[in-house]
Amino acid sequence: MLKRLLESPRTYFVLAALLFVVALLSQFRIVATHPSGTPSDLLELRNRDVNVVFVVIDTLRADHLSSYGYERPTSPNLDALAAAGVRFASVESQSSWTKASMASLWLGAYPERTGVTRYAHAIPESAKLPAEILKEAGFATAGIWRNGWVADNFGFAQGFDVYQRPVPSQSPERMERRTPSSHPLLGTDLDATESAIEFLRTRGHERFFLYVHYMDVHQYLYDEGSALFGAEYLDAYDNAIHWTDRNVALLVNALVERGLLAETLLVFVSDHGEAFFEHGTEGHARNLYREAVETPWILVPPFRLDPGIVVPETVRNVDVWPTILDLLGLPEIPGAEGRSVLPLMLAAAGAGPPATDWPPTAFSQLDQSWGQTDAEPRPLTSVREGPLRLIQRGNGSEAAELYDRRSDPGEEYDIAAERPEDVARLRRRIQEFLARPPAPWGESPEVELDELRLNQLRALGYVVEP
Ligand SMILES: [Zn+2]
Repeated sequence: MLKRLLESPRTYFVLAALLFVVALLSQFRIVATHPSGTPSDLLELRNRDVNVVFVVIDTLRADHLSSYGYERPTSPNLDALAAAGVRFASVESQSSWTKASMASLWLGAYPERTGVTRYAHAIPESAKLPAEILKEAGFATAGIWRNGWVADNFGFAQGFDVYQRPVPSQSPERMERRTPSSHPLLGTDLDATESAIEFLRTRGHERFFLYVHYMDVHQYLYDEGSALFGAEYLDAYDNAIHWTDRNVALLVNALVERGLLAETLLVFVSDHGEAFFEHGTEGHARNLYREAVETPWILVPPFRLDPGIVVPETVRNVDVWPTILDLLGLPEIPGAEGRSVLPLMLAAAGAGPPATDWPPTAFSQLDQSWGQTDAEPRPLTSVREGPLRLIQRGNGSEAAELYDRRSDPGEEYDIAAERPEDVARLRRRIQEFLARPPAPWGESPEVELDELRLNQLRALGYVVEP
């Protein structure tokens, strides 16, 4: 009888259905157990000893999450969190390459100012990172990451008590769309989730800051339970989002089980998007079109907002940490250019005046020769202003591209020749942007990379030529 049951495909169908119900229930728990609050309670967070869980989902473009309008149900757990928290509808990351973008995210400053624009650049010790500010405020700090571009040798470990790549132990049945590498990235994001839960078990009784950097969306990696959308390149990407979303549920449920969710500020962001030949290339770190730089930002306070807040203005990844530090009532990052979006959140909820002085422009930057030592810089700068995006190559003497998403949401049609006034105005914005004073922390040093480190980076699919 048991043997027959085990051999029957129906048994597995029933089991899969049961697991699906369990998944739905766990998703529901996130919201149902959360105490409710009001938008004005955001102003009171600075008077409470809240923890921070900061999750970076590498390579996650916003428009592939259901809560951002995607037609596929890739992200039920993130959607549930967004519905009970704050979702920023339009977010611009500051580069399309991990290290440049992450340096901007942590320092609240554009790549031009961080100086971290090429493969050997590192954040100098003189810079002050959010983890240092939190550590000084008494937080236990931990960073768990699987992307070699944010390794300690590039200066990203400053302020963390624990900063580590999790030991690769998981090997779930998986499908991988990318060409197998001779130096594969070992393990999966479940390793990161388990390390994070272990941190909560051992240090969760202290006031803590936990940074988790997920990589399986970057690697198009997922298990059988998330193989929902097919096996083509883009399907694999969506499957990997679903798999990461399940990791998010595990992490959040671990907070619930320890009674920590109502004491914790949760933040989800990404460092850049991913292209699927919209502009002739796939992947990222090559250009600055919308698919490469538009990322999600979901903020979940230690209480449930009903309804959740949707912030319509274009905000930037440089605003993320100024906002978190503002909410916590902690000192600002010295030299930060980003601003707290707290006034935008309150305005969107009808709990504050309209934020009329919000910067109208958002920039992103990429040195297209970042991976080659001897190559001359090939800077690319993008500026967004309302529905317009201008992309300028070089120092401004070359022709620029202009897109208007009112008539062209995919940024497919370059209308620079038809709109010379817009081009001239936005070029001026870029000139003003590039003429800003240098960072107070000085120049970014270059670090030597040994073969081991280089192979760890090549495992991510980057061509790095020292
Ligand atoms: Zn990345």
